[in-house]
Amino acid sequence: MNNFSFDVARTATALLDLFLPRACIACGRPLGLFERHMCLFCLADLPRTGYAFQPRNGMADRFNALLQDDFSEDSPILPYVRCAALFYYRGEGGYNRLTQRLKYHADLAAGRFLSRLLADDLAASSWYAGVDLVVPVPLHWFRRLSRGYNQAAVIASVLGGRLGALVRPHLLVRSRRTASQTRLTPEERAANVRTAFRLRRGARLPAEVRHILLVDDVFTTGATLYACYRALRSACGPDVRISIATLACVT
Ligand SMILES: [Zn+2]
Repeated sequence: MNNFSFDVARTATALLDLFLPRACIACGRPLGLFERHMCLFCLADLPRTGYAFQPRNGMADRFNALLQDDFSEDSPILPYVRCAALFYYRGEGGYNRLTQRLKYHADLAAGRFLSRLLADDLAASSWYAGVDLVVPVPLHWFRRLSRGYNQAAVIASVLGGRLGALVRPHLLVRSRRTASQTRLTPEERAANVRTAFRLRRGARLPAEVRHILLVDDVFTTGATLYACYRALRSACGPDVRISIATLACVT
């Protein structure tokens, strides 16, 4: 950007701020001229997990425990599934509001901003650099229609672009509407979503795919992601890696 267009952009932002003040999506404080989505304080204090750089971590251990519960004598031995999240989902400091902005307030720009931070982590980690297919957790068609977008697909599109991977937002389908997960116990959540996902009828995984990244906005119990993992796993051999990435992880 040359100096003139930079000045024009800065003046336009300043004028817009006068009429429509922009606020930090975490703390709500008005944003400064050079701040985007989050103020510098909240951005500096973002409770990052660093999970992209840890082969084993709390989120991955929880996910692999679900896998372990399903393991039977005659099933093939599957590798430990790697999982990464950008930050811990916490009420303090308003960090739980970040994913809510994307999910309930259609703030797609904020969602993409956070997704780019996650993409930076994944691209810098040798493990995720080999991802060649990105698949978001699907919404039931009715919910996607009423919301207008799938928040996981917004994240997946940014991650796929950064990792140079194919993005297939419609590979998985949620075949039935499930009750809201928020008031259920972990066991009830697992039973609620266990058979809710499948590959779209007639859809196939591209033959050359070796590493799939399954994406959602928040990792809570892992039940939804695990149900999607099972649907993907049934469509590919044990030599295909499947990893998980979310913006936030509930601790
Ligand atoms: Zn802030």
